[in-house]
Amino acid sequence: MYDVLAGTTSHPTADDVFTSVRDDVPDISLATVYKALEAFVSCGVARKLALGSGPARYDGRTDDHEHIRCLSCGRVQDIEGLRPVDWMEGIAALTPFDVVGYRLELQGYCPDCVH
Ligand SMILES: [Zn+2]
Ligand SMILES: [Zn+2]
Repeated sequence: MYDVLAGTTSHPTADDVFTSVRDDVPDISLATVYKALEAFVSCGVARKLALGSGPARYDGRTDDHEHIRCLSCGRVQDIEGLRPVDWMEGIAALTPFDVVGYRLELQGYCPDCVH
């Protein structure tokens, strides 16, 4: 099941993974898929993304990177290259909190939806 997650950049939901895995393992349950995905997240080989209001998505990439989400079709893509770390440090300096991280989600319309 990890192969499904590691082999895609589509940031699938548990349902999406369930649909793919079921081709190979017809009697697998959605609950089993959920448990496996959560286990991957807790042992650090995958990340869980809570983007927008839809279901959580899972990411086989665990290096730091940002995401952009299409407001029309819900597709989520990685953003490569530039990271807003310096900018975030500036914001962190404005709060009394000990800032340990941030979540950034860009929103827009993908090339298929922009027309
Ligand atoms: Zn779209
Ligand atoms: Zn990603």
